[in-house]
Amino acid sequence: LFLVDDSKLIPQNAAHNWREGLFVIQISHPSGSSQGMDKNTAGSEQGKMGDDNRVTPMMAQYMAVKGANPGSLLFYRMGDFYELFFDDAEQASRTLGIALTKRGKHLGADIPMCGVPVHAMDHYLQKLIRHGHRVAVCEQLEDPAEAKKRGSKSVVKRDVVRLITPGTLTEDSLLDVRTTNHLACLVLLKGSGDMAVAYADISTGDFAVAATTMTRLAADMARIAPSEIVLADVLLDEEGIKQAVAIAGAAPTPLPQSRFDSQTAELRLSQHFNVATTAGFAEFSRAEVAALGSLLDYISLTQIGNMPHLRVPRREATGDGLLIDAATRQNLELSRSMQGSRSGSLLDAMDDTVTSAGSRRLAALLARPFARSDQINERLDGVSFFHDQERLTDDLRSQLAEVPDLERALARVTARRASPRDLAALSTGIGRAHAIASELARLPLPVGVGSAIGTLVQAPLELAYELQRALAETLPLLARDGGFIANGHDSELDQSRKLRDDTRSVIAGLQTHYANVTGLKNLKIKHNNILGYYIEVPQAQADGMKDETGAIIFFHRQTMAGAMRFSTAELASLEQKIAHAAERALALELDHFNAFCQRVIEARAEISSCAAALADLDALAALAHHARRCNHVRPLVDESAAFVIVQGRHPVVEAALARDGASRFIANDCKLGEDETALWLLTGPNMAGKSTFLRQNALLVVMAQMGAFVPASSAHIGVVDRLFSRVGAADDLARGRSTFMVEMVETAAILNQATARSLVILDEIGRGTATFDGLSIAWATLEYLHQHNRCRALFATHYHELTSLQASLQRLTCMTMAVKEWKGDIIFLHQVVEGAADRSYGIQAARLAGLPVSVIARAQDVLTQLEKHRDAGTKPDLLADLPLFSAPMRPQPAVPQADLLRERIATILPDNLSPRDAHELLYELKRLAERDN
Ligand code: ATP
Repeated sequence: LFLVDDSKLIPQNAAHNWREGLFVIQISHPSGSSQGMDKNTAGSEQGKMGDDNRVTPMMAQYMAVKGANPGSLLFYRMGDFYELFFDDAEQASRTLGIALTKRGKHLGADIPMCGVPVHAMDHYLQKLIRHGHRVAVCEQLEDPAEAKKRGSKSVVKRDVVRLITPGTLTEDSLLDVRTTNHLACLVLLKGSGDMAVAYADISTGDFAVAATTMTRLAADMARIAPSEIVLADVLLDEEGIKQAVAIAGAAPTPLPQSRFDSQTAELRLSQHFNVATTAGFAEFSRAEVAALGSLLDYISLTQIGNMPHLRVPRREATGDGLLIDAATRQNLELSRSMQGSRSGSLLDAMDDTVTSAGSRRLAALLARPFARSDQINERLDGVSFFHDQERLTDDLRSQLAEVPDLERALARVTARRASPRDLAALSTGIGRAHAIASELARLPLPVGVGSAIGTLVQAPLELAYELQRALAETLPLLARDGGFIANGHDSELDQSRKLRDDTRSVIAGLQTHYANVTGLKNLKIKHNNILGYYIEVPQAQADGMKDETGAIIFFHRQTMAGAMRFSTAELASLEQKIAHAAERALALELDHFNAFCQRVIEARAEISSCAAALADLDALAALAHHARRCNHVRPLVDESAAFVIVQGRHPVVEAALARDGASRFIANDCKLGEDETALWLLTGPNMAGKSTFLRQNALLVVMAQMGAFVPASSAHIGVVDRLFSRVGAADDLARGRSTFMVEMVETAAILNQATARSLVILDEIGRGTATFDGLSIAWATLEYLHQHNRCRALFATHYHELTSLQASLQRLTCMTMAVKEWKGDIIFLHQVVEGAADRSYGIQAARLAGLPVSVIARAQDVLTQLEKHRDAGTKPDLLADLPLFSAPMRPQPAVPQADLLRERIATILPDNLSPRDAHELLYELKRLAERDN
């Protein structure tokens, strides 16, 4: 801060620059010589923003606030609108598709402007945030009437009250209720190279940190899936970090390195949680403290004083969670399908929760399954408990279905953005939590369920009752609309409302009372704009205007021809009250509202734990329900090296087949870790079900280790520490990698990281290059997995040559997908059996896909030649054997359409058709038939 000793300089506007941690002070010179700083320039709230060459006080205010909030669109509150100016207006009008207008001039040029109505703000915010913008909300901090008292030209005080960024949203309307919204902070300590990532969901209060490394960063980012990540600007120069941020799809928020100091962070943490040291929470490393504290700092910067509730930070120990790298997570379609949607993912297939908080809890379990058998079995005990008690679980689920989203309601109360509906949600939720607890507490409970019940009863029931009594039946969205406190809760409020709503009858009541007291039947209470309320009696009766008891004193106000006018202290105060009744009623309601919010804030720790316990109960009960519904069994999970699945099924494919009703899913065993076998080499035709089998076993690991039952008739799984899957191939052109390169990068990660406790799924390694190169890479990879990694692995391939490795690799077993050939067609049995396939039936699969008949026939000729030479051990000379091969493909002699139709019909496997396929097929056949005509 520079102090300028010049009394002539007038501080005009001051604002805090959150990004740099500086105060920006804009000054003006009284002479007005500094262009654009003339304090006396005409301009008002209603007037223009600026004049040709001068800047109005309002524009100066705008500039100061804007200057303090770089990188954000400034929503500048003007009455019922948020206005945007200059570049902000241009950007917002483009993104939102709203009209760009202009308002006044600045330095000779028009000021572009656009605006959004305050009441519709959420809708516009959602769009802007989705398009990667940040928004600084600048509110009016005083009543315009207050500003007027300082002079007609003075500007209403304004400042930014909140920075809205993708990671700091709390509004239900801006969030998906079933998805957590993580804000992450990445710290890399310069000296030690230690790295940590802290993350919070400020809409639920979750707050955690995990140590990470450059190798694991992408996996951690994919797991946490933050919508925004705060980090030192210099870190974005690191290629690995840039890529990890891109993989997570997070919006990066680079800040100066100075904001990530670990000592300041420790101070911030202990101050926030009001403890002498953070060592009591967990043994955090310096990088972890820096990440947690810096995240806290960023939250406080964006929330500007209204700190949301955050639970005490959790430390995620590295060995506690099943490590799933980013590629595996994507390949297995755990929480998102390949297309990026929730539908089609494992999460979607498993999610039978009845609350949005339960759904988020399930997603969190799936994102980070456990890697310790004690933790897994504790979860499984909970699921078993509900699985065995169907009636109780159904009752619990119907009670839970009535529980509102306590976590998000609490977050809004603590961030001072609550609505009366949030208070009602808290009241209902806490009430139901106690009801659930009292029902379950009667039973012998497994540890996990018992501790959840113990937490539920800590929630403040008395507060819930009070809220229930205090709140009206129908509630407004905004507290400032009033009408949310029930009648009868506060007599002063009731009276104010009565005065407001019922002025006439109150006055009529008083008139009757005065008439009775004075005995003057003609006494009337009237109103005019000059006197306000007054009592009028005929002139002749004026002497009777007295109360014999002396309790009421009538004083004279006006004498009219034929009438006298009086008032009383009571009437005068009633008049005052009527004038202020509406204002008073609202103020009283807001007082109650704030008092209740304060009590909620005081009980936030208990309410937050109660909300987490409810979400956990929902997740457990949902897993049990799902297991019953889909016929899943409890897996045996221990520290052995077993992976013995009997009659396992793919949960998503099975559900899809059942939905379409096309065919039944064929269950398969998988036995690794038994009889010294650790690797299965799986060969078989295209479309036989190899990928499905590989994935289903990986998914079973994820399900078992998150504490869920699994689709099998029995399962014994020795805990897996890391799960790797390399399935399918896709370009990653954005990151400059071809299909083959992506495949090799993923394979390298597996070979470098898989341990003896890992499970590796490899599908078709080496397919993106020349046959011999690919075969050699696949061969060496298989040997390396067997000899060096010594992990459990499933390896699918079309390189049938690899099956000869069974002779030299002791723990390798060859398996194949059973098929039947029938009249030249191939029927997939989808059964995994011991043995090796000798061919891939690729041409049959190509025929099924609809390749032109002539191409299929030609391919068959080429294959026959190649196989003939292979069997004879001679070198094929395709040009000699098949002269047409080198000539441009000539049109084939026209095949009669009827033959084509017949051929096509011969390829149809009715049992493999979904209704949709069948529908499309009908059209195809019709087209063929029409061509014939
Ligand atoms: P490719 O070698 O061409 O990649 P693949 O052998 O990996 O083929 P998948 O993609 O796993 O074959 O399976 C093909 C289709 O077969 C799946 O879409 C599914 O509909 C069906 N399928 C696979 N496994 C089973 C099964 N066990 N029971 C029933 N249907 C199955």
